[in-house]
Amino acid sequence: MDDCHRYRVEPGSRPRLADLDPAEHEGATGKREAKARIEATGRRLRELQYLLYAENRRSLLVCLQALDAGGKDGTIRHVLGYMNPQGCRVHAFRVPNEEEAARDFLWRVHRRTPRRGEVAIFNRSHYEDVLVARVHGLVPKAVWSRRYAAINEFERLLHENGTHILKFFLHISKEEQLRRFRKRLEDPGRQWKISEADYEERRYWDDYQLAYEDALHHCSTAHAPWYVIPADHKWYRNLAVSQILLQTLEGLQLQLPPPRVDLEAIRRRYHRELADKDGRED
Ligand code: ATP
Ligand code: MG
Repeated sequence: MDDCHRYRVEPGSRPRLADLDPAEHEGATGKREAKARIEATGRRLRELQYLLYAENRRSLLVCLQALDAGGKDGTIRHVLGYMNPQGCRVHAFRVPNEEEAARDFLWRVHRRTPRRGEVAIFNRSHYEDVLVARVHGLVPKAVWSRRYAAINEFERLLHENGTHILKFFLHISKEEQLRRFRKRLEDPGRQWKISEADYEERRYWDDYQLAYEDALHHCSTAHAPWYVIPADHKWYRNLAVSQILLQTLEGLQLQLPPPRVDLEAIRRRYHRELADKDGRED
């Protein structure tokens, strides 16, 4: 797990999802220890986020993609939940509304990219426009096939403006998805999550795998890498995502900015005021 960058899709390579085991939990000692480690990592992530916010120069964009029940919500809760809400925003992208559909596909995501100092989490993202849009033929091939280049340009623009980008594909097996759907059916606390489309979408499983492979292949770049996270075990998924976030943020060498004021002058002023006050009270 210390080498979690092995889940990174090397630029230009083409991962075969069928060859990547979604149930992998290599190198991790077990659920209980993983939880303790995630907790410790979470606390450090919070500190690093504070530095990012204080530095106010760079930002972080985390894109989460998965098939239904793939664990996007859980990852946000258990890993990104450590971040301070002041300085961290989550955006969920659903079927484009009328305003969004009337514009280019990047419009709605671009306006939700993080400000300097901020972390933005995309629950689904602009990648839907080369995934669901492709699988369901919402636009012709001539349109979606040009989007990879547009996405790469867009992400480069963000990167050149100080935004660090991490993209996670939470890779689950078809069997695990079914187990999770069953759990939702049986658990009254989860039944609200069930949608008509979820089960229907399973028919397109192979098409989605192919669409994901193409997106990973075309759009994993040095400045905006894709990671394929084995996600059948929720604890392992959380551990892997938290370690990658940690290593990325540590790598930024974030520093508190120097004070913007003359501290000595301000101290002298306070001292004078305090001395005056003490004098009056005596
Ligand atoms: P949950 O875990 O709660 O089900 P979710 O992310 O699946 O979360 P939903 O509201 O169930 O949220 O689904 C959002 C739907 O919107 C998905 O089916 C997704 O494919 C679809 N969607 C997202 N972006 C686009 C897009 N650009 N074009 C068409 N459909 C999209
Ligand atoms: Mg859904």
